[in-house]
Amino acid sequence: MEDPKPVVAENMVVSMHYVLRNSAEQVLDQSAPDSPLTYLHGHGQIIPGLATELVGLGAGEEKSVIVAPADAYGEFNPEARQLIPSNMFPADMPLTPGTSVQMQDQAGNLFQAQIVEAQGENMLLDFNHPLAGETLHFDVRIVDVRHASAEELDHGHAH
Ligand code: ZN
Repeated sequence: MEDPKPVVAENMVVSMHYVLRNSAEQVLDQSAPDSPLTYLHGHGQIIPGLATELVGLGAGEEKSVIVAPADAYGEFNPEARQLIPSNMFPADMPLTPGTSVQMQDQAGNLFQAQIVEAQGENMLLDFNHPLAGETLHFDVRIVDVRHASAEELDHGHAH
């Protein structure tokens, strides 16, 4: 008897092409034509709202998936803004609105933030993920599904 066709499930390595659009149908991200995204399913490597919808798909199958902000990059939090003294930034760093900067708290945790604007001696930073509040529209085509090797499971990612 032939093995059943492998489908997306826990500990399977999945290769897929995808196009990601926002609600205004602008393309935010997509896989390169000759290089599908490959990931180990069930290890938190893709957003949960997308991962759940891929379960059971096999090679060649296509699906459109709409993911609400709560299952993607979170709701936009208007409180997640903070003034940081401008002299905390390296003198040669261009502090242009929209620039992404990496900040570190006292415990050593790294945060990605965007510069909103200068306010006097301070810079106003926004700590929301750039895709916070966005409903994500994925068009996915599964290219390949296979069992992960022992080494891949050990590492927690696809090789
Ligand atoms: Zn590895």
